[in-house]
Amino acid sequence: MIDQTAHLSKRQLVALRKQGEIVFGGHRKHKIYGTLICKGAKRWIAKGHYVKQRVFFNSEKEALEYGYRPCAQCMPKEYITWKASRFCTNSRSQKSGD
Ligand SMILES: [Zn+2]
Repeated sequence: MIDQTAHLSKRQLVALRKQGEIVFGGHRKHKIYGTLICKGAKRWIAKGHYVKQRVFFNSEKEALEYGYRPCAQCMPKEYITWKASRFCTNSRSQKSGD
């Protein structure tokens, strides 16, 4: 995970993207990750609120390992899968009656 992205210049970020080090963007506080072209994220960035909370991942696996969940807006399929897997785990821990 690439943290403290506010210290990186735009040029450095572009270079990291090209190297494949940055594939997904995430919000540290909300623990959500999504594509780099996410409209929802861009709206936040435009407002200037997001930049300090912005983190980057080089894979979906990495994001999930850090406990981030997929963005429902730009990754709806992944979000549904994530939600379903969570639901399965929760329902499995419940005891089923006879
Ligand atoms: Zn998104």
